Amino acid sequence: MYPDVMLFVNGQWQPAADGGSLDVVNPATEEVIGQVARAGQADLDKALDAASTAFATWRITSPLERGKTMRRAAELLRERADHIAGIMTREQGKPLAQARAETLGAADTIDWFAGEAQRTYGQLVPARQPDVQQQVSKRPVGVVAAFTPWNFPINQVVRKLSAALAAGCTIIVKGPEETPGSPAELVRAFADAGVPAGVINLVYGVPADISEYLIPHPKVAKISFTGSTPVGKHLAALAGQHMKRATMELGGHAPVLVFEDADLDVAAREMALAKFRNAGQVCIAPTRFLIQDAVYDTFIDKFAAEVRALRQGDGLDEGTTIGPMIHGRGRDNIEAFVNDAVEKGAQVVTGGKRGEGKGFFFEPTVLKDVPASARAWSEEPFGPVALFQSFSEYDEAVAEANRLPFGLAAYAYARDHRLVAALGRDVECGMLTINHNGLGLPEAPFGGIKDSGYGTEGGSEAIESYLELRYVTQAAR
Ligand code: NAD
Repeated sequence: MYPDVMLFVNGQWQPAADGGSLDVVNPATEEVIGQVARAGQADLDKALDAASTAFATWRITSPLERGKTMRRAAELLRERADHIAGIMTREQGKPLAQARAETLGAADTIDWFAGEAQRTYGQLVPARQPDVQQQVSKRPVGVVAAFTPWNFPINQVVRKLSAALAAGCTIIVKGPEETPGSPAELVRAFADAGVPAGVINLVYGVPADISEYLIPHPKVAKISFTGSTPVGKHLAALAGQHMKRATMELGGHAPVLVFEDADLDVAAREMALAKFRNAGQVCIAPTRFLIQDAVYDTFIDKFAAEVRALRQGDGLDEGTTIGPMIHGRGRDNIEAFVNDAVEKGAQVVTGGKRGEGKGFFFEPTVLKDVPASARAWSEEPFGPVALFQSFSEYDEAVAEANRLPFGLAAYAYARDHRLVAALGRDVECGMLTINHNGLGLPEAPFGGIKDSGYGTEGGSEAIESYLELRYVTQAAR
């Protein structure tokens, strides 16, 4: 039912050299369902050797060929989506339909980056003499070390992996120990599609030990991390000390601005879906709901009705629309955030409690009149909690939206065209979606500003961070 997961190094699935492993737990049942190999330094050295050896040939494999191999991997993912979704739901908890959608979405991401491989254009710079040619080309940076979390076990890997491979880089992925099985299936699809040995290496282990070893290592040219802001700051500092390029995809605290002229039904439906997808464990999840006075109560009623219609349970059960949280620690954090907010005066509209019995469940929760002093109003609550406050004027709402050091995603609903245009100008974030939920497409930028990190993992700019510029000037003499 659930496979034990090995390391993938130099084209071979293998146990850790020292035989070490970690338990994998089903968050819906709290049962240990398998083991994942725990890499030590010897395994990392093998992966580093394999990735740097493979770079010599992968970098000169034509972009057309690289793209073809990637597209075969995308097709295999589509064929295997049901099987992979079953693994993902068992290890991560999300409903099967969400796991399947994530797998199919990953195939689209691969296709998109496969196309990008052929568009890494250079330039000819007009010269000052007639016999001089000045070329700028883009070349792969080298071996990439990528660190990815458990919330989207495949999606978080595929963005880094596809961009790296398209650019001609090789990669060592430190996958999520909580959810190792589905990213292993992603890597298997690439291997079965014909990606040469050493181009992709997948390891698991103690995150800090692996990052402290790989980031300073001379064979690693670039790192990419997705996770919390404190860990991201630590890894970015380490990368800086060793002059390594870095992409940082960190935490968020997304505001949702709902104005009185908005289509409240659409806003309530779309935002409830976005908030409670993946049990709220999403870096771009809507979190601070700022609702204009005149529609505050009406909107909360509509939103709460959507939330009460969710069915929480084991993601494998038909009809489940929200699963458990990933671990007991995450569930305890959310409980503490909710209790703190309620003690300080917030009102529980729906939910508010941990689940009874086995599984790391926390009810989908709506809190209104949340005071500014509540911890959750400023710290990222990575779970199924929606927080509401009202506002009267535009400036007040925008000031609140921009108050925090985070700047990842933001959402807004309004019909007045001047207001919509002003929001696009004024809200400080990497991604703003107005009157619909349009984030996360491979062809559009995905990334934050301020403490939410830097770099993008989507759009035509995403491949750039895996490329370096080379300038060659030659005179015909
Ligand atoms: P955590 O900070 O312990 O871990 C988050 C991720 O970072 C995990 O994948 C972990 O393996 C990795 N990590 C931690 N220390 C590391 C290190 N020294 N080197 C390399 N990787 C390291 O928190 P958690 O309880 O697992 O997750 C909750 C928090 O993580 C949330 O508050 C959220 O901010 C953040 N998170 C963010 C995303 C995202 O998509 N941006 C995804 C998952 C978790």
